[in-house]
Amino acid sequence: MKRFSIVVIALALLAPIVPATAAPKAQNEWTTTHKIVYVGLTPKDQPNFWTENQVDTTTATSDGEMLSYAKETVRDAITFWKQNSRGKMKFTTSKFFIGKSGTAIERCNPSADIKAGMKVAGLKTVPIGTHIVVVNIYDSCGYAGLGSQEGNAINLRSFGTTTLVHELGHNFGYRHSSAMFCGKSDYSKFNGTNCSVEEYGDFRDLMGFDDWCPNTTLSATQRATIFHTPLAKSIKIGVDTTVDESRMTTDNIVFEFPYKGNWYFFEYYVPAKGRCMSVSNLFYKPQLQLRMIGPAWTTAQGNAVGPMLITRNGSDLPAGETVLDEDGEPIPPPFFGTTLTGFQAGEVFKLPGAPYTLTVKSTGETSAVFTITKS
Ligand SMILES: [Zn+2]
Repeated sequence: MKRFSIVVIALALLAPIVPATAAPKAQNEWTTTHKIVYVGLTPKDQPNFWTENQVDTTTATSDGEMLSYAKETVRDAITFWKQNSRGKMKFTTSKFFIGKSGTAIERCNPSADIKAGMKVAGLKTVPIGTHIVVVNIYDSCGYAGLGSQEGNAINLRSFGTTTLVHELGHNFGYRHSSAMFCGKSDYSKFNGTNCSVEEYGDFRDLMGFDDWCPNTTLSATQRATIFHTPLAKSIKIGVDTTVDESRMTTDNIVFEFPYKGNWYFFEYYVPAKGRCMSVSNLFYKPQLQLRMIGPAWTTAQGNAVGPMLITRNGSDLPAGETVLDEDGEPIPPPFFGTTLTGFQAGEVFKLPGAPYTLTVKSTGETSAVFTITKS
């Protein structure tokens, strides 16, 4: 019996994942009941791959053979999407099929694998709401998984829960959780020369670069823009807005502000101990996060750029008064060398691409207060 480490291959999610350009098929209509048809293709030299190989993973809650593990990832993914749609999404019983020996071929042909999977599952067409998930561990393409934007087919090479949740997200219409950075953290020079977009750059969720664990959520901005639950609330200019911590289930966890085709989203993130992945170069303090959609030059910087988290470099912030240690040596400022993924009480920030200013008034235990004013 071979043992496969799912943990290691799940990290390959950061490999390029290009969504297929399938015609929109209304996969995220709320009246649709979703169904997962899961097909494991079988390598010729391992005819019992799905039933004999053991899974050795720290992310799975059980340790068993591959097919049980696959079923567990599907259960976890369904739980994730139900939770993140606040119960709006409906799923019917999933179906599992194993292809006969020799169906997993090294050929880098995702659509041929989907066709092979449909044949194994006895499907001539894939109805709306059905998601055919085809696993080919011998795929030689450079992806861990491949979803289709608002489509209904998923190819997996790495079949951990993280990849499955992520690719289903594409089928439901999600784009990547991205991040943006402008040179020297100067967002007053807001253009394609000074600023760059990191397509998977948002640490906040697994449409970006976080991993799955039982408590993961998507950013409130992602949920609001696709599920509309919670609904993003409109900001009143010049009026204090209280925003609740973005993992809470209140109706005040994300606020939006449009300006000339750009959209600005504000949510409050309080780092918790139960994070799935720890990223040591980020500054973890309660923070008001600003995400943007648009202008066009930003989304043109990747295949599936979604909401972009505004990031800054702590070393770029004004130094303030130099503080010296006992030996008279200057102490580096507290944010030195860290990536700032949000704003804290007292900060003032001019919105990129709009004549408005964000002022963060307080960042408390469960909510923050901020104001947007014309500048
Ligand atoms: Zn993706």
